[in-house]
Amino acid sequence: MPPVFRFAPSPNGHLHLGHAYSALLNHDLARQSGGRFLLRIEDIDGTRCRPEFEQAIYEDLTWLGIAWETPVRRQSEHFAAYRAALDRLSAQRLVYPSFESRAEIAQLVAAREASGAWPRDPDGAPLYPGTAKSLSAAERDRLSRQGAPFALRLDMAAACASAGDLRWHEVGEGPAGERGDVAARPEAWADVILARKETPTSYHLSVVIDDALQGVSDVVRGVDLFWSTSVHRLLQQLLGLPVPAYRHHHLIRDAAGQKLSKSTRATGLRELRAEGASPADIRRVVGLP
Ligand code: GLU
Repeated sequence: MPPVFRFAPSPNGHLHLGHAYSALLNHDLARQSGGRFLLRIEDIDGTRCRPEFEQAIYEDLTWLGIAWETPVRRQSEHFAAYRAALDRLSAQRLVYPSFESRAEIAQLVAAREASGAWPRDPDGAPLYPGTAKSLSAAERDRLSRQGAPFALRLDMAAACASAGDLRWHEVGEGPAGERGDVAARPEAWADVILARKETPTSYHLSVVIDDALQGVSDVVRGVDLFWSTSVHRLLQQLLGLPVPAYRHHHLIRDAAGQKLSKSTRATGLRELRAEGASPADIRRVVGLP
């Protein structure tokens, strides 16, 4: 079986040099290994994703010389598949609803921080304190009947107990030089959100389902997602899905050493193209032969 690579951008802004590096690296690796290259549009967030950004992704990648298989998988067309996975996790009693607003969660965290340090996830956000886990069934029913907004969270302690110790094979490198056989640490994220009332999925859930459904053998993506792989391994285990190899790559930074943002014009592919840069210039700037 030829290896399968994918580039999976979210159409919530224009692509920049960091995306170009990731897309070109995936495309090069697929070509060098006689593998396949897929493009996936990660557009589950209907409030931030826009058709014109999706169109711009196709244009920018074509300009870079990248060709992908069609049809392109657009996540917004597959909510039923994600909901089915969520139902499987619910049937394992690993999912619970939490009804607090973001402001209420911030207050709960502040109260805990007032009496000592409160743990943060690998991205630096305070962990959800797990308060809704102890709501009674009657209380959950009452809140749902009122139509209260909710998030569906993974019961991390129960999920880890069910899955046991997990590892993945890292071909690239983690933020502290982790490579080879890496131990997953999903508990570092606590009770992650898997879905919301208005969106029956999340980044973590849909990426795991899609990589499996599309037969992706090699996940090549930025090192900012390195520790998310812990959650992905856990979901793969709970849902009985195959485990790809992972290659996390360094991030392209701006002259000041900052991570690139979709709103910074200086490193946007469209801007660089308008200034006369060629696809070969882009390859050179991101350090690809
Ligand atoms: N959609 C994600 C992003 O744009 C990438 C997901 C992945 O590569 O796993 O950051």
